[in-house]
Amino acid sequence: NIFRPYRDNSSGVDINNLSSQMKLQQNVIPYLSCYFNASSIVAGKCLDSNNRIEIRSPYDPEKIIGKVAWSNEDDVKMAFKSAVNFKESWIQTPIKTKSKMASDLANLIEENKHELIALNIMEAGKTFSDSIDEIREAIDFCRFYASEVMQMEQDFPTLFNDKITYKYQGKGICVCISPWNFPIAIFIGQIVAALVTGNCVIAKPAPQTSVIAFKLGKLILEAGFPEHAFHLLLGDGVSLGNKIIEQNNIDQIVFTGSTQTALHIRDKIAQVETNMIDIIAETGGLNVMVVDSTALLEQAAIDIIHSAFYSAGQRCSALRVLYIQEDIYQKLIDLIIGATMLLKVGSPEQMNTDIGPVIDKQAQNMLLTHIERMKKLGKIIYEQEQFNNEGQFVYPTIVKLDSINELTHEIFGPVLHVISYKPNSLGHIIEDINNQGYGLTLGIQTRNHILANYLEKNIKVGNTYINRNQVGAVVESQPFGGMGKSGTGPKAGGPLYLKELSKKNINL
Ligand code: GLU
Repeated sequence: NIFRPYRDNSSGVDINNLSSQMKLQQNVIPYLSCYFNASSIVAGKCLDSNNRIEIRSPYDPEKIIGKVAWSNEDDVKMAFKSAVNFKESWIQTPIKTKSKMASDLANLIEENKHELIALNIMEAGKTFSDSIDEIREAIDFCRFYASEVMQMEQDFPTLFNDKITYKYQGKGICVCISPWNFPIAIFIGQIVAALVTGNCVIAKPAPQTSVIAFKLGKLILEAGFPEHAFHLLLGDGVSLGNKIIEQNNIDQIVFTGSTQTALHIRDKIAQVETNMIDIIAETGGLNVMVVDSTALLEQAAIDIIHSAFYSAGQRCSALRVLYIQEDIYQKLIDLIIGATMLLKVGSPEQMNTDIGPVIDKQAQNMLLTHIERMKKLGKIIYEQEQFNNEGQFVYPTIVKLDSINELTHEIFGPVLHVISYKPNSLGHIIEDINNQGYGLTLGIQTRNHILANYLEKNIKVGNTYINRNQVGAVVESQPFGGMGKSGTGPKAGGPLYLKELSKKNINL
C-alpha cells in the first residue's frame, strides 16, 4: 500500500522523449476535432436544460468545442435531496470499498488520458506538457488519498494498558468548488478526498471548464462511487454558486479560487441559518522570489521563467514579484529577457508551444489593463512582440517596480514584476512582503544557507522552494497550501487533508 507519486517516475508519458511525445500527440489529435455535449449529473442522470451555452476555445474564438446545459435551482434542490437521503449509508460504507473506488478512478483517468488531454488543451487552453502534468497529479491525488484513508483508523495504547481507537467518518454534505486553472487535478483532488472520507459531494466546477468536469464526472461514477454520493452541477459561477451555498444542509465547503470569492463564500454562509459549515479555502498569492548575489544565475533564470510565465502565469503558486540583489540585477535581467524572447506563445494544440492563452476575455482585459497602466508609468522593461490578435493571448511582460506596495492584488497571468534590492534593506523587504497579507509560495535562490534560513524563517508562506522553481507541487512530497489571504490550509496532497474532512470520534 505504499503510494509513489506518478509524477516522480517515468511510467507515464515522458514529455522529454521525442518518440513518446509524438505517439501521445497522435493519440490526442483525433479528439481535438470532436464536438462535446455536457450537462449536470444528479443522482446518476444527465440533466438537459433550455439554458445551453456554447463553449469556444480560448485560443481560437472560431473553434466551438461543444454545448453545456446549465443547471437551475430545481437541479440544486434535487442534488441536495438525494445526497441528504444517502449520507448515512455512505458514512457506513466500509473505508476499503471507498479506497478501492478511488484507485479504480486513477486507472480510469489513465485509460482516458488522451481525451482528457485534448479537452484540457481545447477548453482550458493548457499546453500539452501542462495537461500531462495535470493528468499525473489527478492520478496521484486518487492513489494518495486511497492509500491515506486506509491508514486513518488506528489504535493507540493508553497509560492504563488498554487502547483507544480514533474513528474518522464523513461530516455529511461537502460542496466542492473548483477552479478553471486546474480543471482536472484540483477538481479530482477535492472530490476524491471528500468522497473517500465518507462525505456526499455536490461539485460545482468553474463554468469555463464544464466539458472537462462532465467527462470526469462520468468517470467518477464509472469508478463505482454511488450516484447518490456524487452530484455535478454546471452553471454560472455567481448565480449557481450562490444558489448552492444558500442550501441548508451543507457541512463542509472545499474551495479553490480567488481570495475575493473565498471571502464572499465565508460571508454568505455566515448568513445561512444552518449547521456550522467548515471551509477549506485555497486562494491566491502575491508570490515572491529572492535572488542574492551568490545564486547560480543561469539556473535562477530558468526557474524564474518557469515560475512566472509557464501555464501563462495562471497558477496561484506562480512567481509575481522577483527581488534581485542590486549587484547582479542587470546580469540576471539580461538572462531573463534573453530566455523570455525565446518563449513560443500560441495555440496549445502545437506540441512546441510554451505559453498558451489566458482563460477568457475578462482575464485578458484585466491583464492588459494592468500592463497598460504600467506602460503609462514607464515601468515596462520587456514585452514580447504580439503576433496573434485572434485568441485570448497575453504576451510575457516584465515590469520594474520600486516596491511590492505598488501592487494591491494578485496579477493572475504572465506578468513578472522585478525589484532591485540592497542587502541592507532585507529587513524592510520582508516586512513589506508579509504586510501584503498573502502567504502562498516563496522562492529563494542563493548559495548562502544562512540567508536561505533567514528568509525561510521570516517570510510567512505555506510553501518555500530553495534553488528551484516554485510551482508544480507534487502530491505527498510537497503538500500544498498557504496562509493569510492565501487560504486556510490544510495542505492538499498532505497528511492532514483527509482528517480535516472528517468528524473525529474516540472509542475507548
Ligand atoms: N498546486 C499548484 C502548484 O503548485 C497550484 C494550484 C493552483 O494554482 O491553484 O503549482
